[in-house]
Amino acid sequence: MTEWKNGIAKITLPTPFPVGDVNVFLIKGERLTLVDVGVKTEGSWNSLKEQMAELHLHPDDIEQVILTHHHPDHAGGLDFFPASVEVYGHQLNERWINPTEAFFQEQEAFFRLYFKEFGLPEEYFPFLSKLRNTLKYSCNRSLTGHLSEGMKPLGLNDWEVIETPGHAQSQIALFREKDGVLIGGDLILAHISPNPLLEPPAPGETERPKPQLQHNDSMKKLLAYPIQYVYTGHGEEVYELEALIGKRLTRQHERAMTVKNWLQKEELTVFKICQRLFPTVYQRELMLTISETVAQLDYLSSIGEISSNNKQPVLYNLQGNLKIE
Ligand SMILES: [Zn+2]
Repeated sequence: MTEWKNGIAKITLPTPFPVGDVNVFLIKGERLTLVDVGVKTEGSWNSLKEQMAELHLHPDDIEQVILTHHHPDHAGGLDFFPASVEVYGHQLNERWINPTEAFFQEQEAFFRLYFKEFGLPEEYFPFLSKLRNTLKYSCNRSLTGHLSEGMKPLGLNDWEVIETPGHAQSQIALFREKDGVLIGGDLILAHISPNPLLEPPAPGETERPKPQLQHNDSMKKLLAYPIQYVYTGHGEEVYELEALIGKRLTRQHERAMTVKNWLQKEELTVFKICQRLFPTVYQRELMLTISETVAQLDYLSSIGEISSNNKQPVLYNLQGNLKIE
């Protein structure tokens, strides 16, 4: 049963992805706002209509959409909304929700470069031309306006934007100070740790983002806010935020230390490490597992445990163990 709780209604929509259902949120403000919209499938759209009907509302009543981030399970359904609905989010949503041929090519070129650096065998390169298919359930829609750190969205004077990059470069959270409610997108989920997905650099930047480091910083950043509970992008609310953040950081550190131990014995490429970390899924979920592997290496580099050489492919080894040839 969909119902209001302190001016927020949680709506759970189906997706065709392994993650399962996605949560979107109606906020009763000066403008009726929907935070995230679900994926672009008829099933999701019908479910949204049915659940809004329980509140005596229809998607036509929505005045604005706010995106927590650009992933298709959160943003794809935008195509179902009339053009009059305003859409707000971090400016880095734009290249994904309104992708151009130039962006597809940029994305392909970015990953081609890194596939070489990571030591992926030739047989995996044809995958690059299929990258654009990952937006099959996404949309072609433009942002009406941008949201960034500290802003109050139009018509939602109680709410403040917190930038929380990591899982997506475009990710934001919405915080309501008066009762400590956070709508957190996929920054923190009750049962799973979100993937620190690799993305091309932001327009105008040249360096590759390091999503795991950003993600850890984003989680730590939340500790400075008086958060009572978090509405998450998938699954249940999070009440014990501080403890869960501690647990997530510890787990990630432990996974990284496993990788460090392997590097104690031999130099390895990203791909070799990926195969060891995810022996049964790396072929099926190449981008997710490569991202998760790079995450551990970025982390170990950031704390000074490992270093890499400038070879092609790049080999990682323990800090101080670097062979000069
Ligand atoms: Zn998600």
